[in-house]
Amino acid sequence: MRFSDLLEQDQLRRALTEDLSSGAFSHAYLITGPSGSGKRTWGRVLACALLCRERRGAEPCGNCISCRSFSAGRCPALFSLEPENRKIKTEQIREIRGQFYFEGMNRVCLICRAEQMTAEAASSLLKILEDPPPGLYFILLAEQAQQLHSTIVSRCRRYSMQPLTAGAIESILQQQGVSQPGTTSLAVRMSKGLPGLALAIAQDPSYEIRLREAGDLSASLAAGKLKPREIIGQAAALSEREDLFSLLENVYLYYRDWLIWQLCRSESLLINPAQHNHSFKNISPRLLETVLEIIHETLKELMLTNVNRRLAVERMLIEIQRRYLYAQSDRCAFPAGR
Ligand SMILES: [Zn+2]
Repeated sequence: MRFSDLLEQDQLRRALTEDLSSGAFSHAYLITGPSGSGKRTWGRVLACALLCRERRGAEPCGNCISCRSFSAGRCPALFSLEPENRKIKTEQIREIRGQFYFEGMNRVCLICRAEQMTAEAASSLLKILEDPPPGLYFILLAEQAQQLHSTIVSRCRRYSMQPLTAGAIESILQQQGVSQPGTTSLAVRMSKGLPGLALAIAQDPSYEIRLREAGDLSASLAAGKLKPREIIGQAAALSEREDLFSLLENVYLYYRDWLIWQLCRSESLLINPAQHNHSFKNISPRLLETVLEIIHETLKELMLTNVNRRLAVERMLIEIQRRYLYAQSDRCAFPAGR
């Protein structure tokens, strides 16, 4: 694969092309962006270009022994590190460290989800980054630079991924064999500009069911008729689900669309216009904003590793229901302090 096969990301493309064409490489790169944004694909093409033995300009040649072994997935000069059980441990770095010092050809260490490095692994990596042997390059991929040790970040040349346009996402889906117009259109709309997410949606046969479930859950909360026992039962059932995060993200998007509908009445601005006709009642935009904040806080909480999922969901459902009941009992003014 070459840079010219990849779509958009003009800023990143320009910067990497300049680095590679001028030969002014950094010994460490950090590419940040949300999951599904294409960091790994760009990181791999950069790795291939750095390892190519016949490179002219920025693009890997595709023919040299290094490019061919890279494409076949057995390049001896590429060291990939991935989290094992959600952690990149110092032993993983220790296992390959000896090979970093072989001289004579370029070597690349590609670290995916670098934010999952343990403190020991980060400190072990830092020692190498402080005094890297010639010809060794690091490519770190992470969701956010803030999740990494600041000294590691300061040693890297940093670039970030941007969301892709709908047209680019559509082309990527087509390249990957997604051809049904309904599936493509839904995946493009729900993807937030992330090609990896679009592909996951298009290939997930239960996605539309989950979307309907999210709509039903939002509508039943909005009806304000759930009894405390029902809320607790629902929280227990939801917290057991593996797809909880994705379901709640869809509940968030449902309320987002509802708020946009209340403010603009424009179908073209909705992410999922299919659901507005039957369920968006007239409701205070301020209440919808509050509900969005509550869901957003819960999603942030669920991203932490040792959170009690059941309590987090229970709190979210109770809080949303309480806001609706307030709004129903006092339509003139929403309670102060929200
Ligand atoms: Zn090559």
